[in-house]
Amino acid sequence: MPHSAAASPNECVIDPPAFAARIEEAGRAQGFRCEHFGGVAGLPLIALTKRTPGPRPRIYLSAGIHGDEPAPPLALLDLLEEGAFDDRAVWFLCPLLNPAGFNCRTRENADGLDLNRDYKALRSLEIQAHARWLGRQPNFDLALCLHEDWEASGFYLYELNPGVRPSLARQMIEAVASICPIETAPTIDGRATAEPGIIRPEIDPMLRDPWPESIFLRAHHTRLGYTIETPSARALGLRIAALNTAVRAAVAASF
Ligand SMILES: [Zn+2]
Repeated sequence: MPHSAAASPNECVIDPPAFAARIEEAGRAQGFRCEHFGGVAGLPLIALTKRTPGPRPRIYLSAGIHGDEPAPPLALLDLLEEGAFDDRAVWFLCPLLNPAGFNCRTRENADGLDLNRDYKALRSLEIQAHARWLGRQPNFDLALCLHEDWEASGFYLYELNPGVRPSLARQMIEAVASICPIETAPTIDGRATAEPGIIRPEIDPMLRDPWPESIFLRAHHTRLGYTIETPSARALGLRIAALNTAVRAAVAASF
């Protein structure tokens, strides 16, 4: 979640219209409903949902809220094209929450707002639209927010699990460890780790201000949420694979 002001040159550029076209095509091929729940500067905010009848966990995934983090949207695209979002669950995907940021190649949106700090004030059109969209969905059994970290040397995650449900954190860390280093620092983003690569914030996250997406989700939409972070200094392919692996591990451990 932290970032440095001096971002490294981004080896990958996501073109939002081309990305939207590709992920919607992949989504339709996998039986997803594609919806535009808003837009900024002519760029759509996209949601893909797939509801298979019968009792199934409802799993939400988001990516692309920081325009200097290309691996998360590309990981969701890969997972979709690989058929990972199958009939085991009901799926809710928001794969590119900050299209203008990707257009400008900035972490923030076109107005300079960090959208992942806007879920309490709701100043941006993007997050206003996202909050309204979330309000139309049922609660989620699991939420995964995909990110990259320019300062980390390894993969790590935040867990928000106020109901003390069975944790999926170790499964994710163990799966990712086979392909990508896990962050070993005892303190990440100013917070002590509970175990290598796992942060369980001890202060009441509801008292935090501003709110990232994860806190908004915890407040209104889910009782089990993870923010997963892949190290931006590593090769893009490895970062995509690490996120892909973590998502697959969390989903597999959810049933
Ligand atoms: Zn981020």
